[in-house]
Amino acid sequence: MLLSLLAIGSLALERQKHQRSENRFRALVETSPDGIIEVDDSGTILYCNASYLRLVGATQPDQVIGQKVTRFLDPDFHPMLTRRIQTLSQLGQVPFLEQRYVRLDGTVVPVEVGAARTSVNPIKLMAIVRDISRHKRAEEALRASEARFRALVQNSFDVTLIVNVSGEVLYASPNSSRLRVRSAIRGGRPNIFDHVLPEDRVRLEHLLERLLARPKEVVQTEVCVPLEHGGTGWFEIWGQNQLADAAVGGIVLNIRDISERKAYQSTIEHLAYHDPLTGLPNRRMLREQADQFLAQSQRAGREATLIYLDLDRFKEVNDTLGHEAGDELLVQVARRIQHCVRSGDLLARLGGDEFAILLGETTIEGATDAARRVLGVLQQPFTVADTTLRIGASLGLGVYPRDGQNLDDLMRVADIAMYRAKEHGTGLMFYSPELDRYSRERLKLIQDLREALAAGQIGLEYQPILDTHHRRWIKVEALARWNHPSRGPIAPATFIPLAEETGLIRDLDHLVLNKACCEASPLGWSVAVNISPRTLYDSSFAEVVAAALEQSGLEPEKLHLEITETALIQNLPRAVQHLSALRKLGVRIALDDFGVGHTSMSYLKDLPIDLLKIDRSFISGIGRDTREEAILRTILLLGEGLGLRTVAEGVETPEQIAWLRARGCHLLQGFGIARPQPKESIINAMEPVLLAEEIGL
Ligand code: C2E
Ligand code: CA
Ligand code: CA
Repeated sequence: MLLSLLAIGSLALERQKHQRSENRFRALVETSPDGIIEVDDSGTILYCNASYLRLVGATQPDQVIGQKVTRFLDPDFHPMLTRRIQTLSQLGQVPFLEQRYVRLDGTVVPVEVGAARTSVNPIKLMAIVRDISRHKRAEEALRASEARFRALVQNSFDVTLIVNVSGEVLYASPNSSRLRVRSAIRGGRPNIFDHVLPEDRVRLEHLLERLLARPKEVVQTEVCVPLEHGGTGWFEIWGQNQLADAAVGGIVLNIRDISERKAYQSTIEHLAYHDPLTGLPNRRMLREQADQFLAQSQRAGREATLIYLDLDRFKEVNDTLGHEAGDELLVQVARRIQHCVRSGDLLARLGGDEFAILLGETTIEGATDAARRVLGVLQQPFTVADTTLRIGASLGLGVYPRDGQNLDDLMRVADIAMYRAKEHGTGLMFYSPELDRYSRERLKLIQDLREALAAGQIGLEYQPILDTHHRRWIKVEALARWNHPSRGPIAPATFIPLAEETGLIRDLDHLVLNKACCEASPLGWSVAVNISPRTLYDSSFAEVVAAALEQSGLEPEKLHLEITETALIQNLPRAVQHLSALRKLGVRIALDDFGVGHTSMSYLKDLPIDLLKIDRSFISGIGRDTREEAILRTILLLGEGLGLRTVAEGVETPEQIAWLRARGCHLLQGFGIARPQPKESIINAMEPVLLAEEIGL
């Protein structure tokens, strides 16, 4: 179905549009958390996505593709499948129904399956298969605990006591031993006051007082009682004053053991107020306790601070290592933060990778210290799924009463400050009113970027890259340019991070990739395109690249994909897998911004790459810093040893050019060679060979 779309539309533009929407659809299917399969009319699976593979416990598509759907469906449901296929051919779709799937290892998973016809001739169906085991387990647990509670209430007959006005027991029903209360210490007549915890005596007093004041009325209370074999139990007491009734002559108390109900209630309460993953208080608890926190700080004449915390590279971890690893990481993060807040402070998980810390009775200095401590522990590496990760966090701080009078206001301002901290990479930031304007602008900018992308209004400039050996420029790097309708040009340093945070980066990278290929191909240029980690780790990215090459006619070896080092070393095996798929297409891979922030470079030998692009921070050290020069020399040797082409970026001065050339750096890029510019100005003014002469090479 997807490919047949391409056959329509003869205009290249139309094709491109279809291609984009196909890519988007494909990306949606590939990344869907639900299993998705395409099936023909004989029930044979033609396609399945990664979630489906996981669901049936397969590791390779060929364990699934070509199989009949019945292979994975519990035989009990085969008759139902036949009926549903009939309905599908008549109505075109069938609603979600619960079924059972049998995985390759024989285990059974409860699922929900819905399907729709996607093509009539030949008949093809698409089914969505959703794992509902988690949901089922929760349902079971709830049912079991309800059943237990009901059994308890039904089987426990109340115990009846008759007491006098001072609580002395005049009569106890024969089943009173079932209460298992600890016998009283005092001799003489048993007295109900001797059985309850001291702090609960006052409740009994109230009960008796009210009963005496209002004969005939039924009055209820709950008390906590020490038990025979240790521990305590909760009893509910219903009392009625029957002193006036000669046959009774006392106060009748009906007593019921409600310990299990209490325990059940407190579990439910715990669940309602805590995050099940980390066990931390949740947003609701934060909300209920915040007023008290703020009021206390106010009474003490001190400040309170709300810290809004968001992890920096959590999405990357989730995308590259999977949700289970993401969950595991969150648990570790929660534990670390917990260790550095005081017991009186409230740490809550707000959802996703966001946490809030409410510090009562603090000063600005105290809050800054606490925030620094938290930041410090989160900057230490984590180990999850045998992988060492550095994530880091951004913290925004709002101070009560200065920045807000209640939790909502504090959350809002702390959130704004957090975003600013994230953008500036400063780790933590206090709110200040100037940030407000900034945050409104930021939202507007995101919206504008979304529209600009949808309308294809992102342009490209190209920066020539010079070959020191052949003394001519041999390729260009494509750089995204956004000319905002009212604000003019916006720097990539501003809009690329915005796009990365909001997920718009995929669209942006795809757009740049397609445009760069189409523009470079007729000119015979080799072109380098920057690819963000999110885009790279899409399971359909290799197909997107293949389509861009096919449409533009660009030879694969003329397309170089630049990927930053940090994106790759987070999860090496996965990086290798994705890069290998790309290299199979014949495209080249460059490791961008190489050398920043990593001490070990031993992983390099494992990566399927072609070029090392040395970060410009090293280049600027030439002639100024002998240590940087030494590192640079080492990197060049390393590249040589591994058979990689080396590219120096940010080359600005003749001195840098001479130094790099003398040490065998293959390619040079920077303002000292040529600035990024529109392709027309390169075509008109930049003879490849002349460029080298101009700069004295
Ligand atoms: P980058 O990949 O390191 O790209 C090179 C950047 O260095 C460009 O900045 C370029 O204009 C600048 N540059 C080139 N020569 C010199 C020089 O001699 N000195 C100095 N100081 N700078 C020089 P630009 O265009 O602002 O791009 C910044 C970053 O934005 C890029 O860094 C890249 O990481 C990102 N970017 C740009 N276009 C795209 C894109 O299409 N997709 C993605 N994912 N990222 C992009
Ligand atoms: Ca680059
Ligand atoms: Ca770079």
